[in-house]
Amino acid sequence: MSKPAQKALQAVKGMNDILPDAAEFWEVFEETVRSWLKGYGYRPIRMPIVEPTPLFKRAIGEVTDIVEKEMYSFEDSLNGDLLTLRPEGTAGCVRAVIEHGIANQIPQRLYYFGPMFRHERPQKGRYRQFHQVGVETIGFAGPDVDAELILMGARLWDDLGLDGIRLQLNSLGQPDERAQHRAALIAYFEANAELLDEDAQRRLHTNPLRILDTKNPAMQELCANAPKLIDFLGAESLAHFEGVQQVLRDAGIPFEINPRLVRGLDYYNLTVFEWVTDRLGAQGTVCAGGRYDGLVAQLGGKPTPACGFAMGVERLIALIEDAGGVPAPEGVEVYVVHQGEEATRLAFRVAEQLRDVGIRTQLHCGGGSFKAQMKRADASRAAFAVIIGDDEAAAGEVSLKPLRSDGLDPAERAEQQRVKAEDLADTIMNTLMDWEE
Ligand code: ATP
Ligand code: MG
Repeated sequence: MSKPAQKALQAVKGMNDILPDAAEFWEVFEETVRSWLKGYGYRPIRMPIVEPTPLFKRAIGEVTDIVEKEMYSFEDSLNGDLLTLRPEGTAGCVRAVIEHGIANQIPQRLYYFGPMFRHERPQKGRYRQFHQVGVETIGFAGPDVDAELILMGARLWDDLGLDGIRLQLNSLGQPDERAQHRAALIAYFEANAELLDEDAQRRLHTNPLRILDTKNPAMQELCANAPKLIDFLGAESLAHFEGVQQVLRDAGIPFEINPRLVRGLDYYNLTVFEWVTDRLGAQGTVCAGGRYDGLVAQLGGKPTPACGFAMGVERLIALIEDAGGVPAPEGVEVYVVHQGEEATRLAFRVAEQLRDVGIRTQLHCGGGSFKAQMKRADASRAAFAVIIGDDEAAAGEVSLKPLRSDGLDPAERAEQQRVKAEDLADTIMNTLMDWEE
């Protein structure tokens, strides 16, 4: 009796495989991002993907989309601890900084890169597993570092060949200023209670500022006329805000002040900003950040100012694709085909010799006729095939066949030639150099 066929399993909805064609470009993207960050003196930090659930409740706030409905939380079956797949990186980064005391002497400029998890409705630009590049500064109080973080964004868009990403800026002031604004906001929304949707009614007394963050078009006019936080800011907050704007003006970075810009996370104060594009439909924010001076103390550290941002990698990569900016992937330079026992031994040897001098080399595995192997060589997009049969092996030689010599005059094209095995690397290097000229 034959076994019943097993149903093939699929990835979790909203969690994407990134297949080699795409993943190759992700690596190019990551390299660009790393060298950009190093160019500003930022250092990497890596935190666990799983953290204690209370960390996020405390850091992000109970009345937020993330904590209310987006976290993947579970009980550790061994000890009953409540754990959560990180929905963002700031909380874990700050926890690590406090736990290891690394910001006590010297302020820190840090970055991380990795997957985040939120239980949202999957759609273009919104996934359940997505990736962020997070950048955090811990221990700097002034507007200078806020401005630096914003300048960094402008440079990265340039490095990535992206344009049309607009900067929006706002100030959330300090907690006491927000409290006064909050009272005015509640009074305003109460006076217009019949216009509030269900979400807004629920948030009216818990987190009225979040009402301004609504995605409901019917509520947008109401929100546009609501009391503005900026009118409640005191002299110090205004000076901080002005300090950020001054650096941006000096650097020639255009920005728009958006009074409705409030971040989804409650630990932000003073500067908030978003980088937004019109090219991605509804999911147009590619980078969001701001100051969170209250968070370190909120998580049990001694009060320490902090400021940072997070970028959505999937959205940025979609933008780069849209702009036609994905280069052809860099494949191997040499593909080695071989047949026969001695030929295979020689093939392993020359392939390692080529790698010794930095030539990217793929050795054919799995046997097959020369014809079939040459098909693979062509598909590999290598510049050369190295062909080794019994003949070549007996003479300690290989045949070197150029597979492509892009843009060269046919007369200049190198023909297939026999080369001593020990001269192969030099011959390939010289030909590659000739081609470059
Ligand atoms: P939104 O209002 O779009 O839900 P958010 O306020 O929840 O955004 P942040 O927590 O500030 O987003 O995250 C920073 C960035 O990470 C976003 O600007 C976006 O580029 C990206 N991002 C957030 N959630 C997702 C997701 N579910 N899928 C893909 N990217 C995301
Ligand atoms: Mg969200």
